[in-house]
Amino acid sequence: MPETINAASTAEQGRSSDLLLRLIADSVPALMAYFDLPGLRCLFANQGYAAYNGHSTESILGLTVQEAIGDKAWQAIQPHVERSSRGEHVKYAREQTLPNGESRMIEVNLIPHFEDAQKLRQVGSFVLITDITERWRAERSVRESEERMRKFTEATDEAIVFHRDGLISDGNEALYRLTGYALHEVVGLSIFNFISPEWRAVALDYTRSGREDPYEVTIRHKDGHAIPVEVVGKTMPFHHADYRIVVVRDITARKQAQEREAFNALHDSLTQLPNRRHLMDRLSQALARRQGRLAVLFVNLDHFKTVNDSLGHHAGDQLLREVADRLRHCVGEADMVARLGSDEFVLVLTGIHAPDDAAQVADAVLQAMRTVFTVGHLPLTMSPSIGISLFPDDGASGDALLRCADAAMQQAKDSGRGNRQFYQPGMDLRAMEVLQQERLLREAIADNAFVLHYQPQICLKDGALRGFEALVRWRHPVRGLVGPSDFITFAESRGLITPIGRWVLHEACRQLKAWQDEGLALVPVAVNLSALEFRQRDVAGEIAAALEATGLAPQYLEIELTESVLMHQTGQVLGTLQALKDLGVGISIDDFGTGYSSLAYLKRYPIDKLKIDRSFVMDTPDSADDVAIVTAIVQMGRSLQLQTVAEGVETTEQMALLRSLDCDLAQGHLISVPMDAPAIRQWLLAHSTRTAA
Ligand code: C2E
Ligand code: MG
Ligand code: MG
Repeated sequence: MPETINAASTAEQGRSSDLLLRLIADSVPALMAYFDLPGLRCLFANQGYAAYNGHSTESILGLTVQEAIGDKAWQAIQPHVERSSRGEHVKYAREQTLPNGESRMIEVNLIPHFEDAQKLRQVGSFVLITDITERWRAERSVRESEERMRKFTEATDEAIVFHRDGLISDGNEALYRLTGYALHEVVGLSIFNFISPEWRAVALDYTRSGREDPYEVTIRHKDGHAIPVEVVGKTMPFHHADYRIVVVRDITARKQAQEREAFNALHDSLTQLPNRRHLMDRLSQALARRQGRLAVLFVNLDHFKTVNDSLGHHAGDQLLREVADRLRHCVGEADMVARLGSDEFVLVLTGIHAPDDAAQVADAVLQAMRTVFTVGHLPLTMSPSIGISLFPDDGASGDALLRCADAAMQQAKDSGRGNRQFYQPGMDLRAMEVLQQERLLREAIADNAFVLHYQPQICLKDGALRGFEALVRWRHPVRGLVGPSDFITFAESRGLITPIGRWVLHEACRQLKAWQDEGLALVPVAVNLSALEFRQRDVAGEIAAALEATGLAPQYLEIELTESVLMHQTGQVLGTLQALKDLGVGISIDDFGTGYSSLAYLKRYPIDKLKIDRSFVMDTPDSADDVAIVTAIVQMGRSLQLQTVAEGVETTEQMALLRSLDCDLAQGHLISVPMDAPAIRQWLLAHSTRTAA
């Protein structure tokens, strides 16, 4: 009984473990089957495998592989099955399209089954098929992402390096382009090897502290040249270690642009010399070091404006560049040549022992400029005026030294140009006065702070009034009435003569017309025009306009010109004079005899009067020479049919002499000093009553 019981229970146990096995086999998410050898007949299949091939777990038993899976699938897997039948564990993956069209990736394992532990006799093969679609997809996306990443790092212009504690483990293609090193040459080396020594500490600091903000260092190319780069590093954990990804960007172009910008901010674009700002910086640095004496040379080219005006700006620029070159050659390595603008240059000489050292350099500059310049195929000579100031003698600051040198340069100009002057105390005061004066004069022009005085001219024969000369005065806020000799030349030099001349012309015409309207003075008024005005303005046009505006008839206006106007024997001068003549305006030559008397022009130009300069009248009748000169002028005038006017008649003896010589008109203190309009009006009233009486 117990045997039966035992046998029965053993059989039961066997059945229940079969059932359990099947239960497990059917519930795992895999397809499983077992085929024997050599027939390749199915001895076991789980539900998944049987169903997948269109069978039940019972009906599949005993079928060959080919029968179980069908001819088409057999063809595809036959080689694998044969390898497995030869004792090899075959594993492969393949894509499988499900009946619903979905594509799955499966992994097939064909595992040989041996009867003995020594694997000598193979009796069958297990088939284990698992669906690895999810894993496969995940792996594929990682692979693709890695591929994209690689493509990206290769395509980028920025070099990318991976390192761990400074040792390079990977890098992209751009690394080679940037450094000239192929990846295999650098893997395993320290990144610090490639950084210029002076920058290593910075890079080390960033790497150690894990900072992620960009910083700049200089690296070395394989060929040795330095490359400025911007670096951004990021630490990231990878396989239990901290790696750093470093992106390295070549910033050579940016650095060059920055350098250019910095250079331009401190240099003059025409000559490439340091500009004023740079000069002042360097000067104050040099002064701060206080290493012995120092000299500042202020160099201004004489008559540079003429070159610019007559040959054009292009020629002017060319000349300035050449001047800059020559100046550079006049100074030492440690010295500086700067250009302040237009034709002004400054030399800073260091290591000066005595003033004479500075004088020698100044003389060298004078000498260097003397050599002929060739500008646009034209030979040109130049002379500079040079002012010299010394540290510490003349000032302790750059500003003070420059101001003193400038003042000394002005002095050099005043002393006839083309020379050098050392600064002397007081010179800068003069320079400041000049500036102050210019400012005041501009204000005067804006406010019309001028007044005209009139000086009568009389006929020497009968004493009758024949005209007035209008003489301008400046109502100076501090100095009171200032005479024209104190500001006309200055106004000319500062380009301020034109507005003054215009005002004078209008005012004289207006005043004379007003007197005429009162019935007071039916004689002309003479207005002085400087040579500069005559050359620069459309004189005839302006005079016509002034006459028109004031209503004065042309025969009541005379223009006084100096001989220097006529010296320029150009068609333009003749044209303007002729235009004035055509207008009906009279023309006098002022200060006659003091200029370069080329008598030819007296014949050529349409002139009416010669005004004998006061310097010839002054010493008559005592000076026989002057009597002879005045006599000659009067006679020459008569033969050329020009009226003569004696200026500066102060004594009755002079008056008598002039009358005896048959001079036509006289003007001077003996008759009347120049007077303002109200005083002249009184004079006219008295005069007309006297003549009437
Ligand atoms: P100018 O045209 O030869 O004027 C005559 C100058 O001699 C005037 O000086 C006058 O005051 C002075 N004068 C006249 N009679 C006598 C005299 O008997 N004795 C002495 N010692 N001097 C006498 P002023 O007014 O100082 O003018 C100086 C110069 O300034 C003028 O010389 C003229 O060349 C210039 N000027 C005057 N007004 C103007 C103007 O409106 N425009 C221009 N461009 N120049 C002017
Ligand atoms: Mg005059
Ligand atoms: Mg005169």
